[in-house]
Amino acid sequence: EQYVYRFGGGVSEGKAGDKNRLGGKGANLAEMASIGLPVPPGFTISTAMCARYYEEGERFPDSLRAEVAAGIAHIEGVTGRRFGDAADPLLVSVRSGARVSMPGMMDTVLNLGLNDATVEGLAAASGDARFAWDSYRRFIQMYADVVLELDHGAFEEALEIAKEDRGYTLDTELSADDLRGLVAEYKQLVEQLWGRAFPQDVHDQLWGAVGAVFGSWQSDRAKVYRRLNHIPGDWGTAVNVQAMVFGNMGDTSATGVAFTRDPSTGERAYYGEFLINAQGEDVVAGIRTPQYLTRAARERAGAKPLSMEEALPAVYAELARVFDTLETHYRDMQDIEFTVQQGVLWMLQTRSGKRTAKAALKIAVDMAEEGLITREEAIARVDPSALDQLLHPTLDPAAARDVLTKGLPASPGAASGAAVFDADTAERWAADGRAVILLRTETSPEDIHGMHAAKGILTARGGMTSHAAVVARGMGRPCVSGAGALSIDARAKVARVGGRELREGDVLTIDGATGEVMAGEVATIQPELAGDFGTLMEWADTVRRLKVRANAETPADCRTARDFGAEGVGLCRTEHMFFESDRITAVRQMILASDERGRRAALDKLLPAQRADFTAIFQVMAGLPVTVRLLDPPLHEFLPHEEKEFAEVAQAAGVAVDVLRRRAAELHEFNPMLGHRGCRLGVTYPEIYETQAHAIFEAALDVAEKSGEAPIPEVMIPLVATKRELDLMKAVVDRAAEAVFAERGRRVEYLVGTMIELPRAALKAGEIAESGEFFSFGTNDLTQTTLGVSRDDAARFLGAYVEQGIYARDPFVSLDVEGVGELVALAAERGRATRPGIKLGICGEHGGDPASIAFCEQVGLDYVSASPYRVPIARLAAAQAAL
Ligand code: ADP
Ligand code: MG
Ligand code: MG
Repeated sequence: EQYVYRFGGGVSEGKAGDKNRLGGKGANLAEMASIGLPVPPGFTISTAMCARYYEEGERFPDSLRAEVAAGIAHIEGVTGRRFGDAADPLLVSVRSGARVSMPGMMDTVLNLGLNDATVEGLAAASGDARFAWDSYRRFIQMYADVVLELDHGAFEEALEIAKEDRGYTLDTELSADDLRGLVAEYKQLVEQLWGRAFPQDVHDQLWGAVGAVFGSWQSDRAKVYRRLNHIPGDWGTAVNVQAMVFGNMGDTSATGVAFTRDPSTGERAYYGEFLINAQGEDVVAGIRTPQYLTRAARERAGAKPLSMEEALPAVYAELARVFDTLETHYRDMQDIEFTVQQGVLWMLQTRSGKRTAKAALKIAVDMAEEGLITREEAIARVDPSALDQLLHPTLDPAAARDVLTKGLPASPGAASGAAVFDADTAERWAADGRAVILLRTETSPEDIHGMHAAKGILTARGGMTSHAAVVARGMGRPCVSGAGALSIDARAKVARVGGRELREGDVLTIDGATGEVMAGEVATIQPELAGDFGTLMEWADTVRRLKVRANAETPADCRTARDFGAEGVGLCRTEHMFFESDRITAVRQMILASDERGRRAALDKLLPAQRADFTAIFQVMAGLPVTVRLLDPPLHEFLPHEEKEFAEVAQAAGVAVDVLRRRAAELHEFNPMLGHRGCRLGVTYPEIYETQAHAIFEAALDVAEKSGEAPIPEVMIPLVATKRELDLMKAVVDRAAEAVFAERGRRVEYLVGTMIELPRAALKAGEIAESGEFFSFGTNDLTQTTLGVSRDDAARFLGAYVEQGIYARDPFVSLDVEGVGELVALAAERGRATRPGIKLGICGEHGGDPASIAFCEQVGLDYVSASPYRVPIARLAAAQAAL
């Protein structure tokens, strides 16, 4: 088996499609080389070797040595330099690269191949001693950190002291001699911390670095990142060994990162940052403030240091040509890393750029309109879940703002929350349900769990491509980075700006679209749904087959849902209405009544309120189907649970306190989820369902008479396990309908159906469909009852289950397609066999989850129903499922 694949110098043993084998970085380096772009030569050790490395107890098979030697020979052949040559040495970088990019998670070592002898050779051959010693000190520093895993703080401190002693502020001020001294210090530090001398043999250096890159795949931070992003642990990383090119060879050298379009807004403009006389890591590490790529961006920001377009016009022009070549070739926005060595451009990386939801939409729509991609491709390009970012409120421009300071608008969206100064606190507070904003001087990969838990991220240092910015955009968290006026003391848990203080727990607001940081909470407004969003949704609607409805039980939610494009209500939970203050007393009187007559008296009081609820909902949804679920939860949920409430409630309901207490005790259940609920309530107290049915039909007729457009009520009986249950309840509903229609002398279309949420109902669906006119899969309960897992108690073990691969995803978030899905498929099939064309939908949380929606398309359901804010997500996911 071949493990080493070469690229550069006219050779390309890989291509962009080989990401599984070569990792994203390696595959794209080979692809860029094959289309004639300037790529320093190198080779990729495949991801398969990563797996083998771990299988063999973190050792390399002997056969790899010969392959790597051939790879090095390839680089030597192209560059004309030899690895370890004391006169004119070849230096390489050793770079990680998984199938999907994991920004900042994995390790890279630059300038490998330097030692006490080759550094002199590099100085002589390049005629630049400063550059040679700068490269050597960088190499030792990185190698000590990544490969030897020594405390990097010690090296940073030595560098800071070297500058301070000489009164410098910038690394670039250090002379060749200063750097030579620093190298001596670094080597001493290595001996001190590691107990051995810094490795001088360049082959030892190489194998050490390759092992470290493979090792970084199993680092804690990489594991956390994989868990958050659902990346399997067995994919492994590839290792890229590539000839170094140098951005630190003086003022005609530079290094930079760029996007072919703005990753924040999607605007069609080159976007990026670069640094003169620097090496790769410098730009992202926020050591010096990077310069803008284009003149327009610099002028817009009012910045002084020249843009690349102005400072290095010829190379910039070439870079712009490369951007265009890459966009047409990959037909997508690219995220690029490049280096300029003495006026010559070198490409070091390209990949599809991470982008905000807003940018994803704009880029997809623009590219389709530019003819670069088709409309179907545009639909497929936008991650439905990412739309969430756009569908939520932004800051009200009219609201008062107490602006503390301004940083860079690194990731859009607004967030308010309590200030916290470390990732662990962010995670803990968020777990307690608090909104938090994470404040850091700069973030590092160790902070990602806190960034994930936070509503927003604020940093004092770092640019638009800093770690904080990139990760926040990927996660969809608002982020303001590089708020330079802010001084953050994480140890004392305080941030200071302009004479004011923010302490842990103080509320602040950040606006990731403007970079503003404000004290306190700022009011928000609803999002703008026209423009690119509207266009893409229109395209999606022409493609999808599944209808999309909403789970909604208030007129306001129904309105939101309709505005978001809902084509009906898939689940209207009537019990939510029972809790309203103007009727809870009547509900309690009904529960406390000792006989049917008492219950009917209470229900009569309830009827007008229920009718009014349905009228309001039907008015908003006129002309569309509305599935109303009859009362579902156990009655004790409506009674007080605390002794101190008893007296007040008893008085309001007009019963003695001990009657209330006795009834509450009677209704107590050991396992309410499987207790006296759903149609079991209707079977024992048919008058409850009868009253609800009356309210539904009277409201439907009221709306039909008033607006001329009748809603289509679909009355849904919950928790049915047998056909007989449904028959009994359907009779109650039909009788109520006939009574109302007779009294009003007018009819409306309606259906009576059931939720399929018990395994028995799924199995007996064929029989149940004889009476049921529609099925709605209640996949929340169906998941609980099929898995035998109580949703409310699952938190204690579900994390471990997902971690150990027992379930791939939380089955309450993403449908367990193999198990619960099989019941859904079977019930759909049996239902259709009895009643061809039976209406089938899903109303659990899963109705808004893209993966579950794909499954619904596959089994041919008629519609999915999701919470109002997830309706657009469902529309797009349904379109993608149909492509
Ligand atoms: P990451 O995956 O974290 O981005 P990379 O392997 O891309 O790590 O390396 C980080 C940076 O190091 C690159 O952006 C580039 O600037 C620099 N670099 C990597 N390899 C080389 C090389 N052969 N020559 C010059 N710079 C390099
Ligand atoms: Mg990179
Ligand atoms: Mg249910």
